[in-house]
Amino acid sequence: MLDHLNFELITPTAAIHRKLHGARAKCLQRLIRLDMPVPDTVAISSATVRAIAGGQQPEMARLLEYFGSWPVISVRSSPIMPDWGGPGTILNIGMNRANEAFFASRLGSDAAAALHLKFIRSYAVDVARLDDEMFDMPNLTVEKALAAYEDETDEAFPQEVEVQLFNVLKSMARAWEGTSARLLRMSKGAPENAGLGLVVQRMAFGMGKGESGSGVIQFINSDTGDAQEVGRYKRQSQGRDALSGGQDDTMYLTQDERGPSLEESQPEIYTELRRLGRVGRTGLREEMQIEFTLEGGNLYILDAVSAPRTARAEVAIVTKLAHDEIISREDAVLRIEPRAISELLHQQVAPKAKRDVLAAGIAASPGAATGKLVFDSFAAQTSAAQGEACILVRRETSPEDVRGMHAAKGILTERGGANGHAAVIARGLGLPCVAGATDLDINSKARTVTAADGRVLAEGDVVTLDGTRGQILVGSVPLIEAGLSAAFRELLEWADEMRDIGVRANADTPEDAKASMLFNAEGIGLCRTEHMFFGEDRLTVLREAIFAEDAEDRAAALTRLLPMQRADFRDMFLIMAPRPVCLRLFDPPLHEFLPTTRAGIVELADAMDMSAREAQARIDDLGEVNPMLGMRGVRLGITVPEIYEMQARAIFEAAIEASKEGAVVTPEIMIPLVSAKREVEIVKSRIDAVAADVMSETGQKLEYRFGVMVETPRAALRAGDIATHASFLSFGTNDMTQMTYGLSRDDAGRFMSEYVNQGVFAEDPFLALDQDGVGELLAIASERGRQVRSKLTLSVCGEHGGDPESIAFCRSLGMDYVSCSPFRVPVARLAAAQLAIREPLEGDDDLEFPEEAGFVPQ
Ligand code: PEP
Ligand code: MG
Repeated sequence: MLDHLNFELITPTAAIHRKLHGARAKCLQRLIRLDMPVPDTVAISSATVRAIAGGQQPEMARLLEYFGSWPVISVRSSPIMPDWGGPGTILNIGMNRANEAFFASRLGSDAAAALHLKFIRSYAVDVARLDDEMFDMPNLTVEKALAAYEDETDEAFPQEVEVQLFNVLKSMARAWEGTSARLLRMSKGAPENAGLGLVVQRMAFGMGKGESGSGVIQFINSDTGDAQEVGRYKRQSQGRDALSGGQDDTMYLTQDERGPSLEESQPEIYTELRRLGRVGRTGLREEMQIEFTLEGGNLYILDAVSAPRTARAEVAIVTKLAHDEIISREDAVLRIEPRAISELLHQQVAPKAKRDVLAAGIAASPGAATGKLVFDSFAAQTSAAQGEACILVRRETSPEDVRGMHAAKGILTERGGANGHAAVIARGLGLPCVAGATDLDINSKARTVTAADGRVLAEGDVVTLDGTRGQILVGSVPLIEAGLSAAFRELLEWADEMRDIGVRANADTPEDAKASMLFNAEGIGLCRTEHMFFGEDRLTVLREAIFAEDAEDRAAALTRLLPMQRADFRDMFLIMAPRPVCLRLFDPPLHEFLPTTRAGIVELADAMDMSAREAQARIDDLGEVNPMLGMRGVRLGITVPEIYEMQARAIFEAAIEASKEGAVVTPEIMIPLVSAKREVEIVKSRIDAVAADVMSETGQKLEYRFGVMVETPRAALRAGDIATHASFLSFGTNDMTQMTYGLSRDDAGRFMSEYVNQGVFAEDPFLALDQDGVGELLAIASERGRQVRSKLTLSVCGEHGGDPESIAFCRSLGMDYVSCSPFRVPVARLAAAQLAIREPLEGDDDLEFPEEAGFVPQ
């Protein structure tokens, strides 16, 4: 027998703790402290609930003593976090023949019988686990229901209130321990052994004589967060009856021309309800949804939960609460889940939309789009020209597809991983992308996709791509628009004042630079200059430079590339100045830049004045077995010096042009895929020479910063050496992950989900930085680099730069900034601010610790 002290009557001073009794119990105590008319409520701790699940029986009589001689009560679940779920509420426990007779005099015999009947049914379904259909009979009465129950269970319906209550508690306690409930809450972040508190409350009936009924009220619009009274009231009802849809007997709360309202019929109660709403908002420091009941004209507040809301509404709500000085700005910033705000930046599938999932893959770039399937870049461009939305489907993408990617509304690939070509480009463009949809058989010739279940879709068929969840849905599905609200901007400005690690954007073109400014990036941390050549006219020129067989041909191609690069760099400087722009010299993995289509080969042959056969032979010549480990990055720079020299010249000349237009520019030049100090020395001396040339030609003084991408394990280990020549190191964690694991970033999609499902990897290391392995290399490199050069600037510019946990890790290593695709910049800004608030770095004395934020602050 457990001690009765495990039941705690909730009073203003009772020892109710969220961790012991759950969020609902704590919230009810706050409502009581605010003098709200809450019926007597007793909290049962999670330890007691666990004991009940294990078969122990506490002293029910003592518990029932709190509720007088004719107890009729409800039981609700009270988990530590409201979104961990929990068994549903059971009302009217205690109803039996005696209580029915007693309440008949107070409420009327019809109401008392109705309450009794309701309880029998819910007990039968929720506790005895019977089928509600057994009560489908004409003119159902209490007697008929009791007989049906007995018939089904061979036992009489329990009349003792103690037995009823114990069985309810036991069934709720056991439901919480069930496997599916456990998995569900663990998916919401609950620990495996999370306990459940319960609250037992005297019923306010909502049925009977006088004005009786129940309703729900909240003071914000759940979609937008704007102030608005929303809710319903229903006479002669209980719990959330007023919210069950399709009823024409519910009432509006506020006057409404569509029907009767509580405001008109019970103006005083309505005014009191509004007053309590205001008190609740201030006292609970949250927008609540309040469950209320009227019993014979008396108002009771039974429960309150955070008002349901979209991410957009959440931002509006917390910003307004901070403006009203109900919460601090730090609290407001802490309350927003950084990942959830990507919902605001991209169109999304409407939460309640029906999903007919054709196939799933890696959620490679967030957002959603509906369009017709197209199977090549040309069809995508044609479709866009005709004003028709399309989804580009490829086995995998290459630079030849980039034009089509620009024209499409979404990208779907059969191959590729979270940081493969399609993913990186789509994220940069802010397009949804599902990569590595290996279950889908893509037939580019027949222009069909075949799903695992045999369904075949052809070009022109409409699908909806959900890049947030990694699903391909058949047909058109309702979407919700992205919205960069004023509240969102303001919240991010607050975040910027709080954070202590920089956030830059990865931006490859002037358009990307504009997007970066829109999201208030502090600069560009990575411009992949080879991506500036994705346009068809430019791609061929770049290929010519790479493919040229002799110096003369190459010089000719480079002469054509120079003005293109210069113009782009100049534009980017003008857009970003005085913010820094870091230009990464060419790093074209050759397989991404070799033509693959017949048309591409012919085009290259034309440009190089050779036959298609010769062009093919040259391509074969340059073909590599492992292009990711081949003639990439600085290796191209070392072996074909003219290419980097041309780029350096374009950068310096652009900086001079931009500064003539008033922009303050100190270009940052970064070389990729370094593994040895000597590579750095050679390239740096060549770039210095170009700078000297440009200065003497123009008579202008030039300053630039020279840095190295650390993206091979060797570069990380030798960072001390490398730092002697570099003023900054930027970690390319995409390649670093690829090389540390020996795991191709373009092929990992094939088995990654299997690896994660089987628990081989806790997460895809291309999405969340592997802190143990790759992270150790980063730590070694940071330390060795800073030993040589204490002011060495350190950053991450791989895709991990936009991932909150990875940002935390970078910050712990003392990095100066992270850089990520423009659309992830707001996520990074918010995540960085939250880190600074939660764990101020030494010396950050000016940052205060705010109170714990969340649904119901402690
Ligand atoms: C990286 O490897 O992390 C990186 C930023 O470079 P890229 O993705 O262009 O290889
Ligand atoms: Mg790289």
